[in-house]
Amino acid sequence: MQHFARFQAAPFPMEMHKVRVIQKLTLLPIKERLAAIVEAGNNTFLLKNRDVFLDMLTDSGTNAMSDRQIAAMSLADDSYAGSETFFRLEASVQDFFGLPFFLPAHQGRACEHILAKVFVKPGNVVPMNFHFTTTRAHIMECGGRVEECFLDEAIRSESDNRFKGNMDLHKLENCITSVGIDNVPFVRVELGTNLIGGQPISLSNLEAVSAICRKHQLLLVIDSSLLSDNLYFMKMFDPLCEDLSIKEINHRISACADIIYFSARKLSSARGGGLVMRDKLLFDKMKVLIPLYEGFLTYGGMSVREMEAMAIGLQETLDFDMIAHGPQFIEAFGNKAKEQNIPVITPFGGLGLHVDARAFLEHIPGEQYPAGALAAAIYIVSGARGMERGTISENRNPDGSEHVASMELVRLALPRRVFTLSQITYMVDRLAWLYENRALIGGLTFVDEPTIMRFFIGRLAPIGDWQTRLVDKFIADFGSDAL
Ligand SMILES: *Cc1c(COP(=O)(O)O)cnc(C)c1O
Repeated sequence: MQHFARFQAAPFPMEMHKVRVIQKLTLLPIKERLAAIVEAGNNTFLLKNRDVFLDMLTDSGTNAMSDRQIAAMSLADDSYAGSETFFRLEASVQDFFGLPFFLPAHQGRACEHILAKVFVKPGNVVPMNFHFTTTRAHIMECGGRVEECFLDEAIRSESDNRFKGNMDLHKLENCITSVGIDNVPFVRVELGTNLIGGQPISLSNLEAVSAICRKHQLLLVIDSSLLSDNLYFMKMFDPLCEDLSIKEINHRISACADIIYFSARKLSSARGGGLVMRDKLLFDKMKVLIPLYEGFLTYGGMSVREMEAMAIGLQETLDFDMIAHGPQFIEAFGNKAKEQNIPVITPFGGLGLHVDARAFLEHIPGEQYPAGALAAAIYIVSGARGMERGTISENRNPDGSEHVASMELVRLALPRRVFTLSQITYMVDRLAWLYENRALIGGLTFVDEPTIMRFFIGRLAPIGDWQTRLVDKFIADFGSDAL
């Protein structure tokens, strides 16, 4: 693995690309940032991007494209049915995954919608390593429920297990036996578990899950939205992958699955999504729903320009320099944060740096949403927006009481190839100031709470006047004209 570690010994990560197009950013004065987060109901999803300095909300649709992707977009063949663009994309998908059948969809959750509609019946249980918000919502809409079979270690903040996203095989077997095979429409594995810090799964674990599914004749569905980071971690840390190329690793993953789906807003740095499979019967079952919900079979709700970008982006994901950039910048971000004693999830995963809000704000109870409060406070002091991944991202219990999440995280996503090391250094500086002043931060309460996926559009208010006191302290420390 020596030659993959070219820059490993250096105290900084290295960009194997250069910037050729830029977007100007502005940083509002702190009082205007306070006004903006109040107007957004303390929900970073509701901020206007013009009020955001560093947009670390998500990597969804915000990764930087390559020159080749942009060039390919101008070759797009715009037609409703049978466009050349579709056939170029289909060939790229088949080559990338090593599987023959492809259905296009407009984004990742659209694939989840099709899967749930086709396979999930009322009372069904879908075992998985960890749920994702939209996945669970679609399964529940069809009357099913999710059972998580994660390692006990998965939800421990600090760990040295490189593959915290692995499925607990005993929990999986127990789940299948206790609910009965007929009640399990499929088993789902998420590569690069989003909600617990972008933690990867190992190839050996995936192959073991696949063997269990085959033994019980259950379908294995892989969510490959965060595949690129997972490929990096497999190549770096999974002994099974040491002598395999990225493409060989990817085909070993595909060999485990019956169906793979992905968000192309993440994988391939474009916008869109798709389902891939080996079996014509499964393809036929799902394909009838594509024209109903997505669009005709040769575009599935995507623009042909995005499809061209996706075709190139998938091939570029086979380049180690491309997939290494995200995780290596996250690691640099994490190491700098740890030097300042900021509590972060370890090992550093993919997707972004995950701050442990429960440890950061020990004085705020789960019912007052520490991760939501921290995300609002981070915006106020830095102008950067992260995303709450904690109790607000859960649903209430049936009796209306709060279901406190197993982890209370603020994700500071690093969209691929977007931010620089100076911007990361700035973030660490602001987080360190906030950590010193953490006693000033208080909780939040809902003022407008939707029943489905409340985290997207729900509105909250601070409990007490902690936000103005935080701003006053910032101005006292840095001066009234400091940004
Ligand atoms: C983002 C994401 C999805 C949903 O994809 P969208 O394109 O945003 O609809 C599904 N699964 C995982 C693991 C994701 O990270």
